[in-house]
Amino acid sequence: MIYQGKARYPVTEIILHCADTRPEWMAGRPLAEKVAEIRRWHVQERGWRDIGYHWVIDRDGAVAPGRRETELGAHVEGHNRGTIGICLLGGYSAKADDLFEKNFSGAQAFSVKLLIAEIKGRSTILKVFGHNDYAPKACPGFRVRVALKDG
Ligand SMILES: [Zn+2]
Repeated sequence: MIYQGKARYPVTEIILHCADTRPEWMAGRPLAEKVAEIRRWHVQERGWRDIGYHWVIDRDGAVAPGRRETELGAHVEGHNRGTIGICLLGGYSAKADDLFEKNFSGAQAFSVKLLIAEIKGRSTILKVFGHNDYAPKACPGFRVRVALKDG
């Protein structure tokens, strides 16, 4: 089981996001630099202490860590206790009901499913939701329960 913060909230949920970036954003740059840029948005522009997400998935399916899983994230207002936030790069101008394939790659589909399965192996995950299940937002740019119905 993964526990977060001093209060040790058990992690029971995964919430998916998108970066709202164009497909070609920082293309050719290492994923670590892209994560550093998102961290800069969150720290310098929003005043948070670290990147809000726990994991970031690049267009080619590469996965990089963000905030440590044992720390509370900053990704969905009111739902940061006991949840892990995963951010998919892409999703610029996406709509809440878009098909996954419209905004994201097949490699990202593969990696997000694998990452969810891997987290499920380390914590009792009861729900996998999207940001748009909790707020009137497009993020992550698809309906999680439709896109991930087979897994
Ligand atoms: Zn989001």
